[in-house]
Amino acid sequence: MTGQYETVIGLEVHIELATKTKIFCGCSTEFGGAPNIHTCPVCTGMPGALPVLNKKVVEYAVALGIATNCRITQVCRFDRKNYFYPDNPQNYQISQLYLPIARNGCVEIETPSGTKKIRIHEMHMEEDAGKLVHNEWDDTSLVDYNRSGVPLVEIVSEPDMRSADEVIAYLEKLRMIAQYLGVSDCKLQEGSMRADVNLSVRRAGTEEFGTRTEMKNLNSFKAIAHAIEGERMRQIELLEAGKEVVQETRRWDDNKEHSYAMRSKEDARDYRYFPEPDLVPVVISDQWISEIKARQPELRPEKIERYTREFDIPRYDAELLTESWKIADIFEKTVQLCGKPKKVSNWMMGEMFRLMKEKGKEPEELDFSPEHLAKLIELSDQGAISSSVAKKVFEHIFAENADPEKYVEEQGLMSVSDEGALREAVEKVIAQNPRAVADYKGGRQKAFGAIMGQSMRALKGKADPAAVTKIIREMLDAQQ
Ligand code: ADP
Ligand code: MG
Ligand code: ZN
Repeated sequence: MTGQYETVIGLEVHIELATKTKIFCGCSTEFGGAPNIHTCPVCTGMPGALPVLNKKVVEYAVALGIATNCRITQVCRFDRKNYFYPDNPQNYQISQLYLPIARNGCVEIETPSGTKKIRIHEMHMEEDAGKLVHNEWDDTSLVDYNRSGVPLVEIVSEPDMRSADEVIAYLEKLRMIAQYLGVSDCKLQEGSMRADVNLSVRRAGTEEFGTRTEMKNLNSFKAIAHAIEGERMRQIELLEAGKEVVQETRRWDDNKEHSYAMRSKEDARDYRYFPEPDLVPVVISDQWISEIKARQPELRPEKIERYTREFDIPRYDAELLTESWKIADIFEKTVQLCGKPKKVSNWMMGEMFRLMKEKGKEPEELDFSPEHLAKLIELSDQGAISSSVAKKVFEHIFAENADPEKYVEEQGLMSVSDEGALREAVEKVIAQNPRAVADYKGGRQKAFGAIMGQSMRALKGKADPAAVTKIIREMLDAQQ
């Protein structure tokens, strides 16, 4: 039954901008801290206090707008959105309705059936509200205005997504862009990235959109996926029972896996929007836009292109190495030091990813220095250490940022490169294993592996396998 319906989803994503101070006053935007310490008359809505726009907010919003292929509104304006709620001390929020900072953009996401464009309707700047803290024990509610006036951009998509997977791919894309630009850390758990999900269903094959609901209070990708599935089923069941979906705002409770109606959907009219009289329009010159563009760091698609071109590494490598800004940074720094991109990539794609998975480390937590990885690659290339020793040393670079030269010296891991010592070890192994030698001569290749394995073990892995192979062959052939 449910297969006959298509899910239609549009997102309103709030991203907190990582400016040092708030959007209209000089208070700190720092997360946490004792209640109400980062406040002043402006962000607590005292009568007569006047807002002064933080230029950095506009710059960050423009940077995001450019990176999401939007058109920048070069004369934009703030509007007053009026509503009463205790976390909103002025009884209005300064936002943008008529002339938002950016419009008509898009980002691309990867889906199983290829690349898909998700259109962005608009992006606007606004101030965040404070936080209510409800205390159920003594039936009181307290308010903390530290977050009041923290700058936000709201990015409104067109209803272009069709599944939870597409929604998550879109959010990951926005998060990556914002992180690469350095305009936000986008932590869902701390609320620096929040998504409201607008969802409707329609019979497969029909054009017209169904009535949508909007779900709030989603602070993890898991909660978003659950909420989408739950709401989709709820709407389909209503329609199947011949009932109607009511346009409303719902709150998703991830513990109970159920959404509740909060309020019927308000209209822009309900907010009595009007141009904010305390702020002049913002004029964004061509020159300012080009300056911001010039400062725009390279984003992931360009990085991938450059890696394949300049470093001549496979596209697959380039894609994985750029998934996080931090990993790309380590990669580039290491390549700069040792000039061997493919080798650096192999270490990172192989051993580093393996250890990250094993130890449950996130890219942001990596703290080994590129110098040490570069040195390790040198040591291994010079044949100073064998590849098995190199792997062991890398584990120590990864775990405690060990200096490979020092470590190898302290642990006596230098390769045995003295031909005489290698011959001596191999000779012993051959003498002690007449069976394997006979098998090998009888044509059993496997027996060679046994002799090789024992020789490497006798050398404690500290020898170049190619050199050892050569010596074994020479000795066995000489015996004939
Ligand atoms: P509002 O300002 O009332 O929230 P908007 O028209 O700005 O309404 O739309 C808000 C979000 O809802 C947008 O992301 C949009 O893509 C999405 N949306 C609009 N109509 C639908 C629909 N029928 N089904 C799903 N999402 C929708
Ligand atoms: Mg809305
Ligand atoms: Zn303030």
